[in-house]
Amino acid sequence: MGSQRIHCYMAAVVSIIMACMLLCPIMALGETAFVDNADAIEKAADSVFMLEVFSYNKQRIAVGSGFIAFDSSLLITNYHVIDGGSYVVAISDDKDQFLVSQLCCYDKGKDIAILKFDQTPKAEPLPLDTDGQLKRSQTVVAIGSPAGLRNTVSIGNISAFYTKEGKDWIQFTAPISSGSSGGALLNNEGEVIGITTATYASAQNVNMAVKIEEVIKLYNNWDKKTISRIGNMRGYSYPVTVQSKEPSDENVVWVTASGSKYHNNPNCSKMRSPIKLDLLEAIERGYEPCGKCYK
Ligand SMILES: [Zn+2]
Repeated sequence: MGSQRIHCYMAAVVSIIMACMLLCPIMALGETAFVDNADAIEKAADSVFMLEVFSYNKQRIAVGSGFIAFDSSLLITNYHVIDGGSYVVAISDDKDQFLVSQLCCYDKGKDIAILKFDQTPKAEPLPLDTDGQLKRSQTVVAIGSPAGLRNTVSIGNISAFYTKEGKDWIQFTAPISSGSSGGALLNNEGEVIGITTATYASAQNVNMAVKIEEVIKLYNNWDKKTISRIGNMRGYSYPVTVQSKEPSDENVVWVTASGSKYHNNPNCSKMRSPIKLDLLEAIERGYEPCGKCYK
């Protein structure tokens, strides 16, 4: 009887092991690769924005791309996209427009800028690849706005890696164009591996992304407090007198003549005798968002 019980116990252990061996590969097969998962790509696109960059005198000077990372209030793009600009209008996958006038930190040499939305959109930060185990031939998905065509998805593979001008580049084949700058390059797990940055006009499908590791390094070195205005990186001074215009309903903010902040609540306790102003005009006049109104 004793040996039979042991036998039964052994059989139970063996069958549990067998069940595990069978289950594990089935579970792995159950995970759809990002490139084949249209719903997951759609969801990722919710966190990618087309960027229209404006100068201080409201001229549109560039179109690019950007994506949300780290937390929902932060927008990653290339430095060259916002270079010379004063503020950015970020357009979501659902065509909602968000003003971005704040700059957290940037690295001109590595061509990275981390911006902050004036009002945080309801989109999740994209997951970032942190192990950096990239290999040639790996599948990649690029999401950006080539030629200003909002949130275009293209698919390709990693072609090579190299270092040029002090930057670690990922060379990849997924098609991109001017306007894709600042967009997200994702791996087959749906994690961002780079910022789509450059393309060789004289070659075919020779495209370049700045590695996401560089963005993570820049973010980790940022003190999380210092925030300036986008135009300040070039030492712009702003005209103090601007032609006033009647603010549209969605762009209205309140300021005081002697204050330095703009408010979205006319009853904000941080100001007295508020004046109604257009948001972009408030930014151009050098007002910054009130910490209480824009948490
Ligand atoms: Zn306020």
